[in-house]
Amino acid sequence: MATMLKIFPALFNRSKRDRPQPPSRPPEWLSPQQSWQLVLLSLAIALVYSLCATISLEFISLPGKIASVWLPSGLTLALFFRWRSRSWPGIVIGSMFGLIRLWTDWEHGFGNFILFNLICTLGNCVQPWAAHWFVSRYGNVRQPFIDLRSSLIFILAAWISPTLSATLGITFACWIGTIPWPQYWICWVSWWLASALAHLIFSPPMLLFKKYYWSNRRRYIQQYGWDLIGIGLATIVVTLTDFVHGYPVAYILFASLIWSVFRLGNWPSSCLVAIVSVGAIIATVTGNGSFADRSMNESIILLQSFMGILSIAGLVLSATVQERKAAQHSLEATLQTLEVRIAERTAELAQTEAQLSGFFSSSSIGMGIVDDEMCYLRINQVLADINCLPVQDHLGKRVQDVIPELASELIPYFQAVFSSGLPQLSKETSREIPQHSGVIRTWLSSYFPIFDRDRQLFRVGFVVMDITDRKRLEHQLEQQARIDGLTQIANRRHFDEALDRAWRQCIYSQQSMALVLCDADHFKRYNDTYGHPMGDRCLVQIAEVLRETLRHPTDLAARYGGEEFAVLLPSASLHQALLVANAIRDRIRARAIPHEGSLVSDRVTLSIGVAVGIPRPPKSAADFVDQADRALYKAKQQGRNRVVALDDSAPALPQWPHA
Ligand code: GH3
Ligand code: MG
Ligand code: MG
Repeated sequence: MATMLKIFPALFNRSKRDRPQPPSRPPEWLSPQQSWQLVLLSLAIALVYSLCATISLEFISLPGKIASVWLPSGLTLALFFRWRSRSWPGIVIGSMFGLIRLWTDWEHGFGNFILFNLICTLGNCVQPWAAHWFVSRYGNVRQPFIDLRSSLIFILAAWISPTLSATLGITFACWIGTIPWPQYWICWVSWWLASALAHLIFSPPMLLFKKYYWSNRRRYIQQYGWDLIGIGLATIVVTLTDFVHGYPVAYILFASLIWSVFRLGNWPSSCLVAIVSVGAIIATVTGNGSFADRSMNESIILLQSFMGILSIAGLVLSATVQERKAAQHSLEATLQTLEVRIAERTAELAQTEAQLSGFFSSSSIGMGIVDDEMCYLRINQVLADINCLPVQDHLGKRVQDVIPELASELIPYFQAVFSSGLPQLSKETSREIPQHSGVIRTWLSSYFPIFDRDRQLFRVGFVVMDITDRKRLEHQLEQQARIDGLTQIANRRHFDEALDRAWRQCIYSQQSMALVLCDADHFKRYNDTYGHPMGDRCLVQIAEVLRETLRHPTDLAARYGGEEFAVLLPSASLHQALLVANAIRDRIRARAIPHEGSLVSDRVTLSIGVAVGIPRPPKSAADFVDQADRALYKAKQQGRNRVVALDDSAPALPQWPHA
């Protein structure tokens, strides 16, 4: 035993902690009903036991009345596994009565007979208990054939448990002289083998039987009918050939066994082993078959080894197949679970995809996703329309290949998101589209990082909005804010900005600049004479004159306020400024707008002040305006309808002759 434990450590490595512990119950007395059940069970067991003992004793073949297979051992093992200690009363009664038959040939006194009977009964009770203990300690007591390991433990238990009863029985039999001492070992081995074989051959069919087979017999027969017929026929043919006609072909029955194990399962296979064994025993005992062809001892050894190999092979093979089937079932169950999970996941993905695609397609702004190679993975129709290309022409292609003209502008935004992981918001892009159409379109776009499940940035999503119309409106509003509503030339705000800009430029370039301030003479009187609307129309004509007079694109005419106008001449010299100022005055005169109320002329006239100078800090643009204003004031003072210039660099200024 100790050696065995060393050889098969894996079989015995289950610690006590691993084994399922039965729930502890408080001790209780049997109810009357349970007591009756126990009595009936014991009587039934005793009856069956006696019957088995009687049958077994029929097969006595060796001196000392030792059976080749001791059927009751197979029975007691199965009974003990099923009913535990409740099977003991039945085993005791059955054992005592079963052995009474030996009395007819007994020659060693009544006392010895009783003692022998008691010793055998004790052995019959201890033997199944020992097997059960061994299996429950190292194997699976609820399902002893569930897998290969459990089956091997059961086979070991079947072999080990009869050693005690064999030792007790044979020792006592030799002691009282029933068996001669020289035959001790041969008898011991025969006793031991008879019980062990009974365990292996007849216990499994009883332990493996399930109600399932009975309740599903119709379906079972329908499914395996041909297998049953085939196995049955093959078994009958081989059995008859060997056990009736004596041809040594018994081992061909292994083919039937294998067939049965693979197709029918473990219970039918164990039944086949039991049936074949019964056939072999009957044949051999009655002197038929290939095993009976020898001396009695050789016959019994051949018979027992045949049955031993057949039963062990059946159990091991069944367990292996069972294990494989269990693994297959578990795999199938896992696959099924996996399939369900995949189906669920696919449905979830389809749902998500439907949401995303609905969001993309119903969006009124352009949307897209690019990967880290800047390839379009997904875009919507709006974006395709913006780029003037079909959706399909985008997918899988790089941004720079689809819209090369915008690549230098857009790629940095994508790169910024990929490198920083932060969004890039509200970026404006403009492009002439369609090309050479003269229509500049503007888009506002934002770029967002998209992270995978591991929080790794792997995509960039972006949205694009066409803001061309908004831009145009903004531009219009801006223009409107810089233009005088009545005269349609620049307003005071625009003039101030332009003056400031020109002032700073001339500080930088140290060029001279000029400012011309024009004021309508006696315009209050004009209004009084012709009315305010006519005054407005007059102001519009003065603005037209200013616009007509200016040729240089950088020159700016503006309504400075009321009936005053300003002309900014960046980079102009005094001479150039005077030319412009007098050209204005001449053109106004040439228009000959009547002004009966004027005290200086019968038509509208302008007084013009010109300021010329090179901007030098600390002088400011306001000082420059003030200079022009002073020149204008002088022109008014000197009698109106004239040009007066003030040049900082030139103390004496030339006077333009009066008209
Ligand atoms: P002076 O020769 O000294 O410049 O005399 P003036 O009457 O032109 O000057 P004043 O400053 O006394 O009057 C300016 C007049 O310009 C008063 C105002 O009615 C008129 N005026 C200012 N803005 C407008 C405008 O938008 N439309 C019209 N019709 N008249 C305007
Ligand atoms: Mg004025
Ligand atoms: Mg005036």
